[in-house]
Amino acid sequence: MIKVTVWNEGRHEKISEEVRRVYPDGIHGALAAFLGTEEDITVRTATLDDPDCGLPQEVVDDTDVMLWWGHMAHGDVPDEVVERVANAVHAGMGLIVLHSGHHSKVFRRLMGTPCSLGWRENGDMERVWVVDPAHPITQGIDRYFELPHVETYAEPFSVPEPEKLLFIGSYEGGEVFRSGCLWRRGHGTVFYFQPGHETFPIYYEPAVQTVIKNAVRYCAPVIRQPITCPHIEKI
Ligand code: ZN
Repeated sequence: MIKVTVWNEGRHEKISEEVRRVYPDGIHGALAAFLGTEEDITVRTATLDDPDCGLPQEVVDDTDVMLWWGHMAHGDVPDEVVERVANAVHAGMGLIVLHSGHHSKVFRRLMGTPCSLGWRENGDMERVWVVDPAHPITQGIDRYFELPHVETYAEPFSVPEPEKLLFIGSYEGGEVFRSGCLWRRGHGTVFYFQPGHETFPIYYEPAVQTVIKNAVRYCAPVIRQPITCPHIEKI
């Protein structure tokens, strides 16, 4: 079984009726609902306002793959929680960073760059193109899928060169964006996936769910072993 922790900031849902209409159980609830129906996945959820952000050491240690959604309160995540999650990735935990999580402390900590981008919130259509049809994360998706209304994200996306580019999004305005990117950090795999604005029902889209389920399986740890700096004897 792959043990997944869905972390959601959870603040938009508390203050906005519009967001609650789209995600009555929270964005974490919507993500956990479709992941929880998979036979090889167990899911728990955690939010910013839970004690210790819902991510005490024992929860992080018991997580194979973490999903991260945040937007308006990135700065409220304590640095010690960020360090705990980053260390887990280095030791082998998978991390899937969704949408506005591009500016989360943990993603910027792991990338080491500003992770900024251009954006426009007018509900344009996005066509998400598969770059690598042979990759495990793109299985079940044809050449592309369409999302009727999204927040436009645009290049330049100030991240390190992805080790694997899996999806490119194109928008009605002609913008393009690297919508699905993979990196290794230590023993862990980090996947950034762009769809998922809080006022659009994007996490109910079958293609988006397919990609996230594929990514959970792909990002599951191969090993879980903290990186140390040992003195070694000559063999
Ligand atoms: Zn957004």
